[in-house]
Amino acid sequence: MGEKAILLEGGCVYQADAAGSVLPRGSILIVGDRIAAVGSADDVRAAVAALDADLRDNLEVVDARSMMVLPGFVNAHWHDMFAMGFPLRGALRPASDRADEIGFFGGGGDMHTISRTFDSFDGLIAGLTADEAYDIARYSMWTQLRGGVTTIGDVGSLNQPLEMVRAAQDLGIRLSATTWAGDAVCPPDGDRFQRTRDTDTVLTAVEDLLRHCASDTTGRIRCRPSIAYVTNMTDELGRGFADLARRHQVGFATHVGAVRNEPDTLRKYYGTSGVRRLHDLGLLTDRLMAAHCAFVDDEEQKLLLDAGVHISHSPGKYGPAGESTLTESGVVPILRRAGLDVSLSTDGASLPNAGMAETMRAVWQMYNEMAASQIDVLPTDALAMATRIAAKGLGWSNEIGSLEPGKQADLVLIRADDWRYLLNPRPLESFLWLGGSADIDTVMVAGRTLIERGQPVGVDYAELRDRYLDALAGFTTRCLRVPGEVVAGVLSGVPR
Ligand SMILES: [Zn+2]
Repeated sequence: MGEKAILLEGGCVYQADAAGSVLPRGSILIVGDRIAAVGSADDVRAAVAALDADLRDNLEVVDARSMMVLPGFVNAHWHDMFAMGFPLRGALRPASDRADEIGFFGGGGDMHTISRTFDSFDGLIAGLTADEAYDIARYSMWTQLRGGVTTIGDVGSLNQPLEMVRAAQDLGIRLSATTWAGDAVCPPDGDRFQRTRDTDTVLTAVEDLLRHCASDTTGRIRCRPSIAYVTNMTDELGRGFADLARRHQVGFATHVGAVRNEPDTLRKYYGTSGVRRLHDLGLLTDRLMAAHCAFVDDEEQKLLLDAGVHISHSPGKYGPAGESTLTESGVVPILRRAGLDVSLSTDGASLPNAGMAETMRAVWQMYNEMAASQIDVLPTDALAMATRIAAKGLGWSNEIGSLEPGKQADLVLIRADDWRYLLNPRPLESFLWLGGSADIDTVMVAGRTLIERGQPVGVDYAELRDRYLDALAGFTTRCLRVPGEVVAGVLSGVPR
């Protein structure tokens, strides 16, 4: 394959490197799938001059003078839940519906319902046909790509891992894949967990996926095992994961400390709270990405700090999902100030929710508000939490997460020349104030442009959407037992 060189010239480049470097009139040279040079226009022109004549003659030059250039966003805690687009107060609601109720993540968490719902995913995943799984995954991941995400870290999806891998390969996005892993529930009438499936079967599925991802030849697919939630994990499963992570030298993820009622429930059903459980089972290491991790006591905070655990949280979605993860305990900003790596993620929902841009805004506004200070999270800190630090948490920082020579050419271009940016010398700040996912202009993964002027390149959006809607209609009528005429009625109202 002949390599290609691309020169991005004159943009405001946010490198998201360890120094938080910003180049107000920066250039980037991309050769093949990697960044060859980043710097001032003169420096990078010298690098162009040193290219082989063939590459130089065919150099593609992109005028980025009206643009901000950022590393591609790394959404390291995400779930594909788009198969559930109809129920759960999704597409079936009338527009006039104001009868909102507190959901199972609200009010401190309805632990039995959460545990039972998570346990039901296996049956639903098995109910999808392979084609439905693929079409749903492709659309769901495309919405991430459209919002500037170049790497997705799955932490368990209501979808089939092999089809998700295939969809990511075809889309060109990076995916760290996983299985939906749990083997127990906390039943309402009892005080001990109930095993719901064979632990070895769950572990074998992870091993199979690790092998499958290891055979990927695109360089964009990896596997990071995850356990759905500490409420749905027997000790055997936890120990099995600790062993697996050691043998395969991979990171792993789980949700812990997510809601207020979690610690009491875990003490009742498993004898101890979440972080202590992870510690006792050998899972509390610097390979762990703990999602949310806010409702933890002082001793657990110390365990997290001693182990150097990575925390990923999703401040863009908490309020609308009924969660009080950030302000009620206030713990995550404290752990960050104490030195833990804390990154940003969108988590998952059955319809598009806050993207990485909205999540960066949320962390910039909320952390500073909580600290009564503008400097707890600078705009460049919010960006680092969505890129370099997230890549580190995903164990992928040798390749992605910042704009530095030698790294993969994953980047995002955003126009910064309209009224929102007038006179602000720091365009990222204006973007956090007034920008969002829909403002992402260009998305590049491994030197390949996948979104340009907000439109997909090489993919027909109408086809992508229609195949998703058809897949969703089939799954919703067959497996969720919503009458076909009700589904057809909703879909007939979709503007196409
Ligand atoms: Zn999650």
